[in-house]
Amino acid sequence: MSAPANGLGPNVYDAEPIPDAARAEIDRLLQSGDLFRYTAPQDAPVALLEREFADMMGVKYALAVASCSAALFLSLKALGLPRDTKVLIPAFTFAAVPSSVVHADCVPVLVDVMDNYRIDMADFAAKLTDEVGAVIISHMRGHTSDMDAIMALCDARGIPVVEDAAHSLGTLWHGQKIGTIGKIGCFSFQSYKMLNAGEGGVLITNDPDVAARAVIMSGAYEHNWKKHKEPHGDNTGELAEAFGRWQNKLPLYNTRLSNLSAAVVRPQIGELDRRVTDGLRNHDYVAAKLNQSPWIDVPAPLAPETRAPDSIQFNLTGMTDDETRAFMDAAKSRGVGVQVFGMHEDNARAFWNWEFLGDQGPLPGTKAMLMRACDTRLPVRLTTPELDFIADAIVSAAADVKSTASVAAE
Ligand SMILES: *Cc1c(COP(=O)(O)O)cnc(C)c1O
Repeated sequence: MSAPANGLGPNVYDAEPIPDAARAEIDRLLQSGDLFRYTAPQDAPVALLEREFADMMGVKYALAVASCSAALFLSLKALGLPRDTKVLIPAFTFAAVPSSVVHADCVPVLVDVMDNYRIDMADFAAKLTDEVGAVIISHMRGHTSDMDAIMALCDARGIPVVEDAAHSLGTLWHGQKIGTIGKIGCFSFQSYKMLNAGEGGVLITNDPDVAARAVIMSGAYEHNWKKHKEPHGDNTGELAEAFGRWQNKLPLYNTRLSNLSAAVVRPQIGELDRRVTDGLRNHDYVAAKLNQSPWIDVPAPLAPETRAPDSIQFNLTGMTDDETRAFMDAAKSRGVGVQVFGMHEDNARAFWNWEFLGDQGPLPGTKAMLMRACDTRLPVRLTTPELDFIADAIVSAAADVKSTASVAAE
């Protein structure tokens, strides 16, 4: 384990170890050199990962790719959006999300977000015009926006919804798995997410045309698409028909996953339920402690939502910009790194740093939220004493700042 920031607090940066079961498979792959997903006639680790992931999510098709960003890009391409189509995305997301829209030759339109990190539905409804060809909902840090309202508005206009569930694997909405509500769901296997391959991503859908188009464009050249099958394992049926329609008609963007990465992810799927349970328990434990501070507010989830967090977000209340900065310093000197999204130079989650987008008009809710919203990693492996350390450091840091402020005011 690498040393924590100043040696005081728990290490929140390392992931969990990869299950031992991965080793034998990696050894086998190293022995045979069979690292490319399309070399083996069948049952390549990537293909097995796709089937296992689709079955776990209860969908027909999964396509594993190089990253969630690649999955988002392919989603927009698979939807066949003409150049310059507007795509709504929340203003609170990771810079890779508007980037994937730009990469797909579309135009991102940012929707305002409220201080509970969820989409402002009034702004969403206002921006959902006839020029919008698709919507990407980023369940940012696992916070779920009102999917009932979003789906009702989008379905009424026939606008496809892509769920960016990169950091939301295991989250439920009315008991339904996040990523299966929209037409397409995208997930990440980057090391900070629930399943860790270092890099990687997966796209899921029940739509055979979307699946076929995404598979081909991900780099299934010639007849490699025949290695993508229906849930029951054959390759005749609606998926094969869709491949027939799209053969030789689409560009190949070659953003595939390697067998090595799949071998690292597959044994983690069995760990997921435990990770989700532990993550939620840890999060709620720390949230209850933080909410006892008069200077801290952890927004509640929406009623239909069951979260799967591996980090915690909370808002500072009644603090100035200077106090907010002093709070970050105080937490750090107590051994806990806290990032205020909008106060860190060049933060990739602050929309004003996405200068490649041009002017997006005012986004007052998101702006205000980013200036007070704190982010702390809470890996699911933390123990209760470690959680206590983190929660106590944060609560004390806020008290440090506010007691100094009240003394100064006297
Ligand atoms: C991590 C993340 C991404 C990007 O995932 P990559 O696999 O690194 O491309 C996109 N959106 C959200 C909400 C994320 O958390």
